[in-house]
Amino acid sequence: MTTVTGQRTFDSLDPATGAVVGTHPIHDAAAVRAAVAEAGVAAAWWAALDPAERRRRLLDYKAVITRDLSRIVDVVHAETGKPKADAVLEVVLTITHLDWAARNAHRVLGRRRISPGLVAANVAATLEYLPLGVVGVIGPWNYPVFTPMGSIAYALAAGNAVVFKPSELTPGVGVLLAALCAEAVPEHRILRTVTGLGETGAALAADAGVNKIAFTGSTATAKRVMAACAANLTPLVAECGGKDALIVDADADLPAAADAALWGALSNAGQTCVGVERIYVVDAVYDAFMKELTDRAGRVRAGRDYGPITMPSQIDVIRRHIDDAVDAGRAVVGGAGSVRAPFVDPVIVEDVPEDSSAVREETFGPTVTVKRVADVEEALEKTNATAYGLAGTVFSGNTRRAVELARRMRGGMTAINSIISFASIPALPFGGVGDSGFGRIHGADGLREFTRPKAVTRRRFAMPGMNLTSFTRGEKEVDRLVRLVTFLHGRRR
Ligand code: NDP
Repeated sequence: MTTVTGQRTFDSLDPATGAVVGTHPIHDAAAVRAAVAEAGVAAAWWAALDPAERRRRLLDYKAVITRDLSRIVDVVHAETGKPKADAVLEVVLTITHLDWAARNAHRVLGRRRISPGLVAANVAATLEYLPLGVVGVIGPWNYPVFTPMGSIAYALAAGNAVVFKPSELTPGVGVLLAALCAEAVPEHRILRTVTGLGETGAALAADAGVNKIAFTGSTATAKRVMAACAANLTPLVAECGGKDALIVDADADLPAAADAALWGALSNAGQTCVGVERIYVVDAVYDAFMKELTDRAGRVRAGRDYGPITMPSQIDVIRRHIDDAVDAGRAVVGGAGSVRAPFVDPVIVEDVPEDSSAVREETFGPTVTVKRVADVEEALEKTNATAYGLAGTVFSGNTRRAVELARRMRGGMTAINSIISFASIPALPFGGVGDSGFGRIHGADGLREFTRPKAVTRRRFAMPGMNLTSFTRGEKEVDRLVRLVTFLHGRRR
C-alpha cells in the first residue's frame, strides 16, 4: 500500500481472523541507514553514561514494561493470536531478563585487574568489555517480546544503542517496545524500531552501518544475513531454531514426562524454537508413557488451549510434515484432518522413519513424533543425529545418568525433569550449534556478545636487566629470560 505522502506501508493482521491490527511504514534502505546514524548519536551518549545511570534507566524501562504489561499483552495477542496468558508469561520472562541484564552488566563487563604473570611482573594489566556502538536486532514473530528482548536488553545493558527490525507479522509489538523505552529514557532514543518486510531486515544487515547483527529466525535466512554481513565484516549472533528431542528413561516419572512433553510440543501452537518436536522413549515404559501422553493430548484443542498458526505459509510446511509422518508411521492423535487453517489440532505420530521430513526438518507446529528405543544410549544417538543443535530435555529418575545424558546432548541447553526451564534463568546463556546458529544471548555470555574486550597494559617499573623489547638488549638479558622460563616451565610433572 502507498499513502498520499508516498510512504509505502504494510498491514499487520490478526492471524485468527485476518482483521487488520495496524498499518506500518515500509522503511527502505535510506530510512534504515538514517535510523542507524541517529542511533549512533544515542549510542555515544549512552556509552559515556556512568554505568549506574545506565542501570537506573534500564530498571525504569523494566518498570514501564511491567506497568504496561496488559497493553503489551493485547498487542502480542492481536498480532500472534496466542492466548493472553501465554503472552503474559512471555512478558514476565522478559522483565526478569531485563532486570538481570541491568543489574549485572557492570559486574560482568566493568574494568578489572588481570594478573600479569611472572614474566611481565612489572606490568599492570586491566580488562574491560566496551560497547560496540549500534546493534541491529532482526526478530521473529513467535515470541515477539521475549526473543528480540533477549538480544535488545543485553545489548542495551552492555552500553549499545539498538535498531530493531521486528518480523513483518509483529511490527506493532516492536514499535511499542521502542516507545516504552523512550518513556523510560527520554534523553536519546537508544532503541529504535524500523518496520517493513524482509528487505528492511536485509538493509539493516547490509550497508546500514551497524556494528553487530543479532538475528533470530530460519537457518536459510540466517545464511543470507551472514552473507550480507560478510561484505563489511559485521559480526553476527544467529539463533535459528531446532528439532529438539525429549528422552524418556525407564525410571522416569511418566505422568510428569507426558505433561512436559505435551506442553513442549503444543504450547504456542508448537511455534517455539526450543519446542519438543521428537520424543524417544525407552522400550520398558513405552506403552505406559504413550497412554499418559495420548490421554492428555485428547483434552487439548487448538483455538482454546493454544492459538492459530501465526504465519500463514507455515500451514503448508506443517501439512507436508503431517502427511509424510502419517504415510510412513502411525498417527495416534490427530492426522491430516487436524489442519483447519489457521488452527492445527494436536498431532502425535509414532514409528516415523528417522529420515522423514517430520523427523529431520523444523516443523514449527503442534505436532510431535514418538519413537520406541532400546535404551537411553539409542535415544541419545538419535537425538544427536540432526543438523540442528539447540536444546533438549531428559526425563529420568536417576540424576547422575540424566546429567551425563544432558552433557552429551548436542546443543546449548538441556532441561532435566522440567521443560524449557533454562529460558527462565537470565544468568544462563542461550544459543545453539550447527544449523541452530552460533553465539549466545542471555547471561554473562550474552552481555559479552555485544561488546569488544579491551586490554590495557601499563609498565609500573623497569625490570632491571630484563629490557627485552629494546635494541639495546644484550645476550645476558636473553640468557636470564631463558633461565627464568626454564625454572617456571621446564619441569615435567
Ligand atoms: P525468517 O528467517 O524468514 O524471518 C526471520 C526475521 O528475518 C524476520 O524479521 C524477517 O522479516 C527477517 N528477514 C527475512 N528475510 C530477510 C533478509 N533477507 N535479510 C534480513 N532479514 C530478513 O523466518 P520466517 O518468519 O519466514 O519463518 C520461517 C521459519 O523459520 C519457520 O518456519 C521456523 O522454522 C523458523 N523460525 C524460527 C524461529 C526461532 O525462534 N528460531 C523464529 C521464527 C521462525 P519479515 O518477517 O519481515 O520477512
